[in-house]
Amino acid sequence: RERLARSNNMLGKGLLALLSRDKIDQDVWDEVEETLLMADLGSEPSMRLVEALQSRVRVEGTEDPAHVKQMLREELLKVVNPDLDRSLKLDGADGNPGVVLVVGVNGVGKTTTVGKLARVMVAEDKQLLLGAADTFRAAAADQLQTWGNRVGVETVRSEKDGADPASVAFETIKEGKQRGVDTVMIDTAGRLQNKAGLMDQLGKIKRVVEKEAPVTEVLLVIDATTGQNGMVQAKVFAEVVDITGIVLTKLDGTAKGGIVVAIQETLGVPVKLVGLGEGPDDLAPFDAEGFVDALID
Ligand code: GDP
Repeated sequence: RERLARSNNMLGKGLLALLSRDKIDQDVWDEVEETLLMADLGSEPSMRLVEALQSRVRVEGTEDPAHVKQMLREELLKVVNPDLDRSLKLDGADGNPGVVLVVGVNGVGKTTTVGKLARVMVAEDKQLLLGAADTFRAAAADQLQTWGNRVGVETVRSEKDGADPASVAFETIKEGKQRGVDTVMIDTAGRLQNKAGLMDQLGKIKRVVEKEAPVTEVLLVIDATTGQNGMVQAKVFAEVVDITGIVLTKLDGTAKGGIVVAIQETLGVPVKLVGLGEGPDDLAPFDAEGFVDALID
C-alpha cells in the first residue's frame, strides 16, 4: 500500500488539486482528462471517468472538495473494476498439478515473477516445480534456476541450448506429476521477432503440455514503465494464447498507475499481481480498493 502510494501519487494528487479549485469549469475538466491520459489510463476510460464525475457534480450540485474527492474515489474504483475475479488458479484437479504458463516479451520481468511467486507458494507449504522453457538464451535458464535455489524449488531445464521449449515444458509437467507436486510453473521465451514464430512456439507449448495436464493459469507479464507501447506487444500475446491474468511489473518505477485500467480494458483480462521491486518479496496481489486509496489518499 505504501509502495503503491509512492508510485501513484502523481495521478491522485494532481486530480485532487484540480478538483479542489474554487470553480470547477470546463478548463478544469479538460485538465482532469489530460491528467488521466498522462497517467496512461487510456482515452476511453479517461473520457468515461470525466463524464461520470462531471454529471455527478452537476446533479449533486456540489463542488465541496471533500465530497468531490469521495466521488472521484468511487468513479476511479468503477474504472478499475473491483468485481473482476483476480484469484490465481494455482491448484490442479484429478491428480494433476496446477499448470501456470508465464508469458511476455523479454525483459518485462517473467523470470523474476516466477521466482517471487514460487517464494509465496513455498511459504504456503506448496510443493512445486519450475520449468525453464526459455531455451534460446542460456542465461535465462540459469537465472530461473538461481531463483529456484534461492526459494528452495527445483528447476527442470534442458542440457543444451536451443532445445525445443515445448519438450522442456512437457518434461516438467511429467516430472511434476510423478512427484505429485501441487503446481508446475513454466517460464517461456519472449522473443517477439514475428507473430507467427511466437504463435508456433506458445501454441505448441500449450498443446504439448495439455496432453499431460490442463493449463490452469496463463499469466501475461507486462512492464508498467513501457506504457502504451507495452500494450501493443501485450495484444500480440493475447492473440496467440488465452491469457487468464496480467502481472504488471515495475509499478515501483512509474507514476503512471493508470496503465492498470488501460490493460484491463484492452485485453479484457484482470490484473492479478503487481511487481513493486526486484526483491523476492516485491510481489503483491492486485487489490482494486487499495489501489484507488493509494491514488488519492
Ligand atoms: P524476463 O526476461 O521477462 O524474464 O525478465 P527478468 O525477470 O529477467 O527481469 C528483467 C529485469 O527487470 C531484471 O533486472 C529484474 O530485476 C527487473 N524487474 C523485474 N520485476 C521488477 C519489478 O517489479 N520492479 C523493478 N523495479 N524491477 C523489476
